[in-house]
Amino acid sequence: MRGPYLLRPLQVDISVPDKIGGVYCLSKNSKKIEIVARAERNLRDAIKAHWKEYEFFWYEPALTPREAYLNQCYTYHRFCENGNGGHEHPKPPEKVEIKCPVCGV
Ligand SMILES: [Zn+2]
Repeated sequence: MRGPYLLRPLQVDISVPDKIGGVYCLSKNSKKIEIVARAERNLRDAIKAHWKEYEFFWYEPALTPREAYLNQCYTYHRFCENGNGGHEHPKPPEKVEIKCPVCGV
């Protein structure tokens, strides 16, 4: 995971490659990841959509939806699993047969 970077539209354009999918994290605090999310096609736009809600972002590009999902699961279990905001386990991409590599869901 690359980051943290300050979440501002210009900073996103500078840091994140264009037209690539992957996993990104958001937080109001550079030391603690709050949200782990996935962008199927465009990390840049997905991250920029949140710039008024969060202060920092991290990202990791992925070549396929499968790779993005696996990375999202690892990141989720590492940072968000235990009572951190109570958000749900990542869902697999559409039309991809895959289970979480950490918990098997
Ligand atoms: Zn899992």
